[in-house]
Amino acid sequence: MPHLSEKIRDAFNEQINVELNSAYSYLGMAVYATEATLMGAASWLRLQAEEELGHATKLIDYMTDRGGGVELKGISQPPINFESLRDVFRNVLEHERKVTASIYRMYDLVAQERDYAAQALLDWYVNEQVEEENSALEVLRMLELAGDSGPGLLMVDRRLAERARA
Ligand code: MG
Repeated sequence: MPHLSEKIRDAFNEQINVELNSAYSYLGMAVYATEATLMGAASWLRLQAEEELGHATKLIDYMTDRGGGVELKGISQPPINFESLRDVFRNVLEHERKVTASIYRMYDLVAQERDYAAQALLDWYVNEQVEEENSALEVLRMLELAGDSGPGLLMVDRRLAERARA
């Protein structure tokens, strides 16, 4: 298997950074949820942070298999203050849509360069994003139905507590 091209390496390193920033963002949201005593949401968001770390390490491992060139760029300080849990999940959905766009750009690049092996790896990420966007949308809809406070909110929080480690 030939090494990854320089362009693909750059794009993968960029994506590793996107995934690590995602992990950090979810940790920030989990801090908000914990402080708001929404322990189900806090647990959901922590698990999501772990998943994001997994998305980054999967790319790191793949780069290593394809000749290396991993670069770990700096990550930025995420917000920990939100207006409500609904606000958190609005951010989650918007964020995941951006991640999807960034994966599609990578996909365009590997297709252009006819790196079919890298394309097969990215298929996994494309499918994963369908799930990410769907679960964010589902939670957001539940919060819209249940409302931002009182019993409805606690019900959604209890539901979020049911998320298991993937
Ligand atoms: Mg991700």
